[in-house]
Amino acid sequence: MPEHPRAADWPGLRLMHVHAHPDDESSKGAASTAMYAANGVDVHVATCTGGERGSILNPKMDRPGILDNIHEIRRQEMERARDILGITQDWLGYVDSGWPEGDPLPPLPEGCFALVPVEEAAVPLVRLIRSFRPHVLTTYDERGGYPHPDHVMCHKVSVYAFEKASDPEWHPELGEAWQALKLYYHHGFNRPRTLALHEAMLEHGLESPYAERLESWKPEPEWDARITTKVPCSDFFGVRDQALLAHATQIDPDSWWFAVPHEIQAKVWPTEDFELVTSHVDTTVPEDDLFAGITAKEHP
Ligand SMILES: [Zn+2]
Repeated sequence: MPEHPRAADWPGLRLMHVHAHPDDESSKGAASTAMYAANGVDVHVATCTGGERGSILNPKMDRPGILDNIHEIRRQEMERARDILGITQDWLGYVDSGWPEGDPLPPLPEGCFALVPVEEAAVPLVRLIRSFRPHVLTTYDERGGYPHPDHVMCHKVSVYAFEKASDPEWHPELGEAWQALKLYYHHGFNRPRTLALHEAMLEHGLESPYAERLESWKPEPEWDARITTKVPCSDFFGVRDQALLAHATQIDPDSWWFAVPHEIQAKVWPTEDFELVTSHVDTTVPEDDLFAGITAKEHP
């Protein structure tokens, strides 16, 4: 017997991921998402924006009619991805802030997600937390994982909503207060993993997709030490890739995303990695399960 309950032993566990754009749920933590869903956990994704300002990143999809209908097409892609992952999903209804480019950087577009005051932007998320009642909530770290304004905003709104959802005084009209038990940040694209995969590719005589990135990526041992939780999920790397490919306008099937063979990934780095930020249950790190420490006492 494992020393803590496994998802499969506790039907009714609920996990909520908050993501900035459609496709982020498939590029961050998607294998563990699919693993938990397959084990009977209810997994719900809250997608902050519609990805309206995303451009077409897959040259094979750069065809007439696609960009004009990008909003609708990205919704259809999201529907396919959530079916593949076995999850449910809601849109929080905010407008993509876009990736600012230029020197100097242009101001963010009026009305976009990153410009909404956090207390206001948290309203639909608190409503969703109070109705879905997740035991575990995940979001990005304070840098956003990467510095897209919507990712940084997603972090701020999620942390704020995690707190406020449990405060019965805060917008009582949004539903009965709910305390999610654990809050995690994604650390999927960490440097040690990237380096390990890079070296394994070279050892196998294969071209590494990470060479250029690693050249400018300084070691940050203190940052990497923030990882507390490594969830084994290599059986679901194939499902992760299928979900990612469902976002056809965003993901080039011939790109670096799919360059490392699954056998190498499974051998070298079979986990997805997280940082436990807040816990209202007793747990000891390192952990290998987002639900570690959650017992029948906390479980309704
Ligand atoms: Zn994103």
